Amino acid sequence: MTVEAHAKINWTLEVLGERPDGYHELKSVVLPIALCDTLEVEVDGSGSVSVVGCGGIPQEKNLAWLSAMALRKASGCGLGARIAIEKRIPAGGGLGGGSADAAAVLKALNSLWRLDMPEIELCKIAAGVGSDVPVMVLGAPAMMEGRGERVRRLERGELELPAPEDIVVFNPGIFVSTPMVFREFRESDRGLGVNDLQPAAIRLHPGIADALRMLESRGLKRVAMSGSGSTVYGVKG
Ligand code: C5P
Repeated sequence: MTVEAHAKINWTLEVLGERPDGYHELKSVVLPIALCDTLEVEVDGSGSVSVVGCGGIPQEKNLAWLSAMALRKASGCGLGARIAIEKRIPAGGGLGGGSADAAAVLKALNSLWRLDMPEIELCKIAAGVGSDVPVMVLGAPAMMEGRGERVRRLERGELELPAPEDIVVFNPGIFVSTPMVFREFRESDRGLGVNDLQPAAIRLHPGIADALRMLESRGLKRVAMSGSGSTVYGVKG
């Protein structure tokens, strides 16, 4: 089975506070964009799960592999899978590439393993794999809250949103560590723009500010950073 795993941008991202577990309470509107990875997913009757095509990431840290293992554990299914990923979404870029692959694997194996799990169950398994994975399972404009585990599709017309083809993304090639950006976050960063993590990411990587200015100079509107960076986006005017 061939499936597409679409990247996302954070149209808004509010950091509401730190939680006792060290994570942060978030509220974010997440939009899928056209950019995607392509996954080839097949059943492996021997029961083993293998992932190829993700560069140097060790398998046990690969979200696609972790999600297949988590689904197998939750369902008790004895089947395995061969997963080949054609990567286009840059890693460490705030576009949710790893999370998109993980969500695509959950959905593909739910079908290939004939598990017939409802979406809400897949979202629960997804939350154990990574904070951004449940929202990627929905694959539509969505509101994400909590650590990322509370997600719902936006109603049609609930917010005025751009069409995916009008969103221009630019990755300046800066690798950003998400935990470092959250550690750098200060209360005073809140509400300065549409993404509360943007000031912290810029303090750590000033090149992100240059990327934002570059998009603005090209006439794009509502220029902002996605997730914890470094990808920035704007809307065609
Ligand atoms: O869950 P995930 O592995 O994607 O999160 C990566 C890191 O981002 C966490 O270890 C944490 O430092 C930070 N994070 C956070 N609050 C969130 C999501 C992520 O502090 N809601």
